[in-house]
Amino acid sequence: MSKFINYFILFSNCVIVKGHSQGAIYDLTRERYLIIPNDLIEIIKLAKKYTIKEIKNKYKKDARGILQYINLLIEKEYGFLTEQPFLFPDIDFTWQYPSLIRVAIIEFTQKSLTLNYADTIFDQIILLGCKSLQIVIKDRLPIIKVEQMIRLVENRGLSYIEIVIDGKYYNINNIKNLLSKYLNIRKIVITNSKTNSTDVNNHELNNKGYIQHVLLSFEKYYNCFENKNNVFKVNLPFYCESVNRNNCLNQKLCIDSEGNIKNCPHSEYNFGNIKKDNIGDIVKMSNFQKYWFMTKDEIKECKRCEYRYMCLDCRVFIEDKKDIFSKPMNCDYKP
Ligand code: SF4
Repeated sequence: MSKFINYFILFSNCVIVKGHSQGAIYDLTRERYLIIPNDLIEIIKLAKKYTIKEIKNKYKKDARGILQYINLLIEKEYGFLTEQPFLFPDIDFTWQYPSLIRVAIIEFTQKSLTLNYADTIFDQIILLGCKSLQIVIKDRLPIIKVEQMIRLVENRGLSYIEIVIDGKYYNINNIKNLLSKYLNIRKIVITNSKTNSTDVNNHELNNKGYIQHVLLSFEKYYNCFENKNNVFKVNLPFYCESVNRNNCLNQKLCIDSEGNIKNCPHSEYNFGNIKKDNIGDIVKMSNFQKYWFMTKDEIKECKRCEYRYMCLDCRVFIEDKKDIFSKPMNCDYKP
C-alpha cells in the first residue's frame, strides 16, 4: 500500500510552537526539541486532515521539500504515518495541581529568624500541601543544625527536598552521609566546587538522590540573573504549567532568612513575616498570587518566541523595572 494514502501526524506528546521567524517541535517525553520553519507548522496542521497525496497535489511546487521534511520527522521519531489519525487525540494540557503551594524555598543562616521558626514554617507549608522544598543555606550553618532541620520534615509527605550549600563550608563526606540517611533528599547542590559534575547514586541507600557540584560561587548560582544554566526545560509538567501559568512563580512561596514571606527570594517586595503572619493567610491573598497567572504569552518579545513554553520566566530581573510585562533581563535572543 502506498504511503501517500496515509496521514502524517505528530506523536501526541510532541507539540508545535510557532514563533515569529521560526517554530519548534517540543518532544515532551524525550525532553528534546527541533527547530523547524513556520511554513512546516502549517503543513503539519493540514496533514492531520489531508493525506500525503492530497498535500502533494495541493503544494505541487514545494512537494519535494515537504516530503523530505515529513521523512525527517518520521526518521527522528517526532511523528508517523497512519490511515486513522482520529485514533490519536491531542493530550489535554490543562494545568492542575492538587495543592495551593507547589514549591517552597526557605533560606537559613546561622543567625536567621527562619532557624528559630523552622518547626512552625515546616508545619505551615506541609498544611498547605507543599511537596517540594528547597532549603538554601546561605552561610556556615553547622551540619548538625542542617540535619536537625531535615529531621523536622522527615516522613511528613514531602517528596522532594533539595539543599543548596556553599561548598567552602562543608565536608563532602558529611554531605554524602546526609543524602544517604534521608531518602526524601533528592538533590544537594554544592556551589564553589572544583568541577561541574553530578554524582549519581552516591549511596546505595538513596538511589534517587544525587549531589550536583557546581563551579559557580554560591552567590552566582543562587542569583537567576547570574546563573544562566537550566533556563530551558522540555517536559510535560513544565509545558502544561508554562501554557497556563507563570512557570517560575506559580504556586511558589519563598521565605528569606529574615522571615519575610515573598514570591521570589530576590524580590524586593514582601507580603508579611513569619514572626507575625500565618503563611496560609498570606498565600491566599490575591496580591500574593498576582504573578501566578502571567504566562509568557503576555510578556513582550517572549510572546512571539518559539522557546516560550520551555523557557523559565523571571519577573524580578526584567529589562524594564517599570514594565512588569517586559522581557527577562538575561536573554539576548531576538525572536
Ligand atoms: S526569555 Fe528569550 S528565549 Fe525565553 S521566551 Fe523570552 S525571548 Fe524567548
